[in-house]
Amino acid sequence: MDAQTTSSGRADPLGQPLPRRWRRALPGALAVTALTTVLAYTGLGQPLRTVPENLRIPIALDTEETPHETPSVLHQIDTEEPVIFVTIDDGHQPGPAALEIVREHRMPVSLFLNEQPVKDHAPHFEDYIELGHHVHTHTLSHVELPQYGFEEQRHEICGMVEVLEETFGDDGAVGSLLRAPYGASDATTAEAAATCGITAIPHWSGTAEDGAVTLAHGDSFRPGDIILTHFTETLPEDLRAVQQKAEAEGFTVARLEDYLP
Ligand SMILES: [Zn+2]
Repeated sequence: MDAQTTSSGRADPLGQPLPRRWRRALPGALAVTALTTVLAYTGLGQPLRTVPENLRIPIALDTEETPHETPSVLHQIDTEEPVIFVTIDDGHQPGPAALEIVREHRMPVSLFLNEQPVKDHAPHFEDYIELGHHVHTHTLSHVELPQYGFEEQRHEICGMVEVLEETFGDDGAVGSLLRAPYGASDATTAEAAATCGITAIPHWSGTAEDGAVTLAHGDSFRPGDIILTHFTETLPEDLRAVQQKAEAEGFTVARLEDYLP
């Protein structure tokens, strides 16, 4: 609503709204004072509510006083050990067969979950937690984070941490990593994630889907590769493909949280 006209359209007690050109012509402080006086006199409320969004004072993050360091963004782990890492994202189609492969091979996996799958399938993810695996935020609603500002990103990232804490917190299984949906993050993502204790934002250097492993850098695993998989109906074949390729190439699947504490 325009703060200078009443909702009924009647003229205010001063007769006419303060013309915009007057405000432009006045020095800044005087203009604010005059406008505030008019608004107070006419009882038209709270002029500060009408400050346009692009004029609001941005939230200042003082790194000296911020309790958490800004998390690093990475695509693979910096190691010379013959280890790779398996991550499982989203959570929409969990099933017992994948869990059985994880159990059978004692395969460390890191779960990056969204809100709806946690609401739908919490007991299934509890089974992973009982095996010693960790769950991490993948945002509440699987948004492409860089299109949003600080507060929206923080809501998506940290809101999901809260959901995980509420659902699994007693198990100590909620980890401090963020998997950004679509591998899309920016500087604001890291700043927002830092506010709820996120320590790293691991993307990936390879994927396993439809039963096949695809690497960003070539045909063979390299030390520190992070493999992206999803809770889909092909997850059992995907995990089996990673396990078989690792064995064939002399690699071990290691626990991501041991390398990104
Ligand atoms: Zn995802």
